[in-house]
Amino acid sequence: DQALVLNDICKTYNVGRPNEVRVLHDVSVTLDRGEVVALVAPSGAGKSTLLHIAGLLDAPDTGDVLVNGTNMTRLGDDARTAARRGRIGFIYQFHHLLPEFTALENIVLPQLVNGVSAAQARDRASMLLDRVGVAQRADHRPAALSGGEQQRVAFCRALANAPGLLLADEPTGNLDPTTSDQVFGALMDLVRETGLSALIATHNLDLARRMDRVLRLEDGRVVG
Ligand code: ADP
Ligand code: ADP
Repeated sequence: DQALVLNDICKTYNVGRPNEVRVLHDVSVTLDRGEVVALVAPSGAGKSTLLHIAGLLDAPDTGDVLVNGTNMTRLGDDARTAARRGRIGFIYQFHHLLPEFTALENIVLPQLVNGVSAAQARDRASMLLDRVGVAQRADHRPAALSGGEQQRVAFCRALANAPGLLLADEPTGNLDPTTSDQVFGALMDLVRETGLSALIATHNLDLARRMDRVLRLEDGRVVG
């Protein structure tokens, strides 16, 4: 039972131009359901490209992407957007919360877009904020929160629609080491409690070791 399968993925940017860059060559990755996998890569190795392809934000040149057993590779843009919604959650290095909305509203909104009632959406948002320890910040806007709190809210937003798959790109990369450690702990607790499958890119080897498995991306290939 697999949450994510990437099969022989190739990706080259600027094909045929002088600045052509071959980023991924025959990359294959499999995530079992409930598995939490670290993706460790030097900067520029193609980790963001890989996460974008896994998250159906970008298409590979060749190779297949299967999410929950469904091959997404040859879907059109609209179908890919629909497939992503509610199934895949994203977390980035920077929170990208909407500044004019409160923490709670930032978690409510994606649920409303997904057709959930306002009352249910608020209940779930409150529950998620409580789980990551920022319930008391529900009615504050992002600018009033610390970096660690902002990132905890961003985790809740990623999980708002109960996706089966979480993709994270340096989720604690902009936090100081102590905060990073605490906030990462909160994320891992949430992932484990909800049985999520996750692919989490990080430069931090201590954090990587707390996951089930570590993949290393080097020269466009997955090793180890
Ligand atoms: P990482 O996340 O590991 O730092 P990226 O996947 O962002 O790496 O980028 C890998 C390589 O591809 C880099 O050399 C980068 O400059 C290049 N690249 C990334 N996105 C594009 C793009 N849209 N167009 C052209 N080159 C890109
Ligand atoms: P991060 O490493 O924080 O994930 P990005 O994915 O935004 O950063 O960018 C990684 C590298 O890819 C950078 O070197 C950036 O300049 C390059 N890059 C990103 N998007 C493009 C693009 N559209 N065209 C060319 N290079 C890009």
